[in-house]
Amino acid sequence: MNLKKFGTSTLAIHGDLKDKQFRSVVYPIYQTSTFAVEKTDDYQKFIDEVDDFYIYSRYGNPTVKEVEKRLALIENAENSILFSSGMAAITTTILSHVQSGDEIISLSSIYGVTYRFFRDYLPKFGVKVKFFQIEKVDEIEKLISPKTKLIYFETPVNPTTRIVDIEKIVKFAKREDLTTIIDNTFATPINQNPIDFGVDIVIHSATKYLSGHSDLILGCVMSSRERIERIRKFKNVFGGNPDPHQAFLLGRSLKTLELRVKRQNENALKLAEFLSSHRKIRKVLYPGLKNHPEHELAKKQMSGFGGMLSFEIDGDLGRTKKFCDSLKVALNATSLGSVETLVSIPVLTSHVGMKKDELERAGISESMVRVSVGIENIEDIVWDFEQALNQI
Ligand SMILES: *Cc1c(COP(=O)(O)O)cnc(C)c1O
Repeated sequence: MNLKKFGTSTLAIHGDLKDKQFRSVVYPIYQTSTFAVEKTDDYQKFIDEVDDFYIYSRYGNPTVKEVEKRLALIENAENSILFSSGMAAITTTILSHVQSGDEIISLSSIYGVTYRFFRDYLPKFGVKVKFFQIEKVDEIEKLISPKTKLIYFETPVNPTTRIVDIEKIVKFAKREDLTTIIDNTFATPINQNPIDFGVDIVIHSATKYLSGHSDLILGCVMSSRERIERIRKFKNVFGGNPDPHQAFLLGRSLKTLELRVKRQNENALKLAEFLSSHRKIRKVLYPGLKNHPEHELAKKQMSGFGGMLSFEIDGDLGRTKKFCDSLKVALNATSLGSVETLVSIPVLTSHVGMKKDELERAGISESMVRVSVGIENIEDIVWDFEQALNQI
C-alpha cells in the first residue's frame, strides 16, 4: 500500500494484510496454538524464517501479525511486535539489549512497575541503572560511562504530565551511540511519534489508549526491522506472546484510535479549563494549558496534548477521597486511556509506598487527583466534577 502517504486512520483501518482465502473484510481470528505441516520437510521453512509460515503461536500467529503490521504503520516504524502485556514488552525489550556488566540510564519518574524492574530486578542480572530527574535532563551527560548501553524515558510523565525534551535526549544518545527507548503510552501515536525525532524503540502498554475499552491487557514495541527481530528471539524464549483473540480486539480498537484520542484531547482541554477556574482547586496540570511548565515544548513535540491531566484539591487526603467518592459518572479506578473517564489518587494507587521525599521530588501531593478523560459528552463530565466539588 504505497499509493500515497496515507493518514493514521486510513493506515489503522486498512493496514496491508488482507484475508486472501475468503476476502473477508475483517481479518479472521486464528485461535490456534499449533499449525500442521503438509510435509515434514516443511519444517525447514521455519528454520529459514520464511514469511507467513507458522508452526506454533508462541513464535507467531497470523492474527497477531496482521495487528503488528498496522501498529508499525501508525508509529512510522519498520516493524512491531505484540506482547501479552506492557510489562512483558518492557522487560523483554530491555533484556534483549543488555547483559551483565552493562549500565542503563533512566528517567526517575516512570511507570511504577518499570521503576521496580530497574531498581530491584535488573541489578540481580548484573545491570546497573542510573536515574535522572525531569528538571535535570542535562545531567545525562555526566551519567554516561563506557558501560552505558541505553537511555529509557517517558513523556508526558505520570501523573504530573510534565514533558521531557525528546530531541535533547536523542542528541546525547546519538553522540555516544546509545539506544533510546521511550514508553509512549500516555501520548499515543496520534499525539506523538518519537521515531520521527530519532528515538530507536517505542513501547506502548496497549492496555491503555490503543485498545481503549478497558477490556484487555497487551503491550507492543515498534522499531527497526533488525531490532524487532532481536526482541522477537527473546520473546520466543521468554514467552510473553499475546493471545490471538485479544490481538483481534486490539486490531478492532485501532480502527477508532484517532477518533477516540482526538475527542479525548478536546474533552481533556475543556475539563482542564473548567477545573482551572474552580475555587476549590489549587492547581491544574495539563500540557495544553498555557501555564503548564513545558507548554511550549509540548507544542513542539506533540500534535495533541492528550487525555491525561491531574489537579490538586484545596484540602487534605480526606477531602480528596471525598471528592472521588462523590463522582457519579467518572469511575474511581486505576488504569487509563479508555472510553470512560477514570480518576485515581496517585499516593494511594500508582505511587503507593513511595517515601515522602520521593513524592515531593516527583511533584505529587496527597491532594492530587489524576484523570484519564474519556469520550463521554464533556458537559456531563464537567457537571459530574462540579457536583462532586460541591460536596467537599
Ligand atoms: C500501564 C502502563 C504500563 C504497563 O502496562 P501493562 O499493560 O499493565 O503491563 C507501562 N507503562 C505505562 C506508562 C503504563 O501506563
